[in-house]
Amino acid sequence: MPQTTGNDWLATYRALHARHGPQHWWPGDTPFEVMVGAVLTQNTAWSNVAKAIANLKAARALRCGAMLKLGDAELAELIRPAGYFNVKAKRLKHLCAFLRAEGAMGRPERLRERAPLPELRQRLLAVHGIGEETADSILLYALGLPSFVVDAYTRRIFGRLGLLRGGESYGEVQAAFEAALPRDVALYNEYHALIVQLGKATCRPRPRCGECPLGGVCRAAR
Ligand code: SF4
Repeated sequence: MPQTTGNDWLATYRALHARHGPQHWWPGDTPFEVMVGAVLTQNTAWSNVAKAIANLKAARALRCGAMLKLGDAELAELIRPAGYFNVKAKRLKHLCAFLRAEGAMGRPERLRERAPLPELRQRLLAVHGIGEETADSILLYALGLPSFVVDAYTRRIFGRLGLLRGGESYGEVQAAFEAALPRDVALYNEYHALIVQLGKATCRPRPRCGECPLGGVCRAAR
């Protein structure tokens, strides 16, 4: 990890927030809807996820109990717009089975009471089809727990800024953020959302550095 101070990571947040303002993440009316969105958004754009969630709502299937009663093919058809629908249907069923086993089927937010954050994270990672990014998205955005979400945008932007070398593990990147930032759920929530916004609109594969609020401190831009 390159030599940095906590201020580098916090200053980046402040610059992004000053430019883009609050992002109001994560879209979803209930913790379960957020969890479902975290699974469905794997390898696809949010616009496709929104269509799949609308289908689930229209079929009254956006509840854990209702989803478990659906056949795999029926569920796959409802979430077809999200892509990889057969695989994701199985993943959603595994997530629902996990919630049922934890006694949190009706109120998934009860997961918070089941174990301390590190253990809860391990339990989520043991669910088939839930990797680190999905687990942290569930912990942060569905359950309101301080687990920083790392994604491909994070790696690209912070590599270009010079705060990451490239090649760090997911855990190393997450630890770098969490060591540098106050342990604040609202901050983690907003920071990841701002990173996604920058990665989509500005720090693209061909970066638009002239429009970027980080241009003055970015190693790649220099
Ligand atoms: S200045 Fe350019 S390379 Fe650096 S973060 Fe912004 S868009 Fe990305």
